[in-house]
Amino acid sequence: MHIPFVDLHAQYESIKAEIDTAIENVIRDTAFIGGKYVRSFETAFANAYGVKHCVSVANGTDAIYITLKMLGIGAGDEVITVANSWISTSETITQAGARPVFADIDPVYYTIDPEQIKAKITSRTKAIIPVHLHGQMADIKAIQAICEKHDLYLIEDCAQSHFSSFNGQFAGTFGIASTFSFYPGKNLGAYGDAGCILTNDDALAEKCRMYANHGALKKHHHQMEGINSRLDGLQAAILEAKLQHIHDWTQNRITNASYYMAKLKGVDGIILPTVRPDTVHTFHVFAIRTKQRDSLQAYLKEQGIETAVHYPTALPLLPAYNYLGYTADTIPVAAQYQNELLSLPLYPELTPEQMDYVTEAVKEFSFADVTG
Ligand SMILES: *Cc1c(COP(=O)(O)O)cnc(C)c1O
Repeated sequence: MHIPFVDLHAQYESIKAEIDTAIENVIRDTAFIGGKYVRSFETAFANAYGVKHCVSVANGTDAIYITLKMLGIGAGDEVITVANSWISTSETITQAGARPVFADIDPVYYTIDPEQIKAKITSRTKAIIPVHLHGQMADIKAIQAICEKHDLYLIEDCAQSHFSSFNGQFAGTFGIASTFSFYPGKNLGAYGDAGCILTNDDALAEKCRMYANHGALKKHHHQMEGINSRLDGLQAAILEAKLQHIHDWTQNRITNASYYMAKLKGVDGIILPTVRPDTVHTFHVFAIRTKQRDSLQAYLKEQGIETAVHYPTALPLLPAYNYLGYTADTIPVAAQYQNELLSLPLYPELTPEQMDYVTEAVKEFSFADVTG
């Protein structure tokens, strides 16, 4: 059996008519840039979160960059973020002109460790960017308290956590702003690049909207220089069609994660994900931990099972950040887990038969390994 890591085609097949109609509408109306489909998606997404403003942008990376820049963060400032994430989270800090400062992860939940944040705060710190990694909520209440105490901006990177929640409150509604990616493989994915910023702050929303559109809210009225980072109409229409299904898909992810957990419970040498109490983990990624990560990944590949590693090198240990001088002992948990985390295929359309095949293969590997 071949099991891909994600299966975007299966999802398209399940809603083909809706997607095809959405695309036809945009082409019929030639609403390619801006226009009613973009506005309609922004309203629908903001409403789904109960937030005042959704500013759509070209991708999730720009969403972070634009937010930082429009909050006035730049040269001489520091922004604390997490050692285990995709590079967008930190490269945008540098793009804005500030310096990224990395805090280690929590050993149980794999998200930024609030104690490590506290240790990194200086007089130059302006903001904290936690990532709700894999769909797991970061320790958002503790992080919020730190931000309030030290007067720092809280910007949540929600690229992997659409509709994750803590005590019924969605990820992305705890700070001054939050950023989303709709990259095709994300839990809510476009058919190309797309992203947005959510905020309840009127002035910030207006600035972000302006900056993303050459510094103008109205054509030729450039209040400042900006960039070109717009969501296009086709992506907006596709996203709005898919938004109708997101809660069902999220539920399927959670059900599938529970299935994996039940089947893999007690398997020697494998540590399963732990869901933070009082939260909904939306399982963008289902990551197990094992000391035999690379050999298990190779074994599963031989069985036709595609897996992935999120991420093989902790951000501060990448060559891109050599200049900052981090070593493995400065972020010990992330440095260890980069060699242990393995993401199994998990998506809403995955069937029990497919999951049985995956879990049986993992068990066979563990058994063979134990008995030599
Ligand atoms: C995907 C991702 C991004 C960037 O999103 P793009 O739309 O690919 O630019 C940012 N942060 C995290 C944690 C991500 O996983």
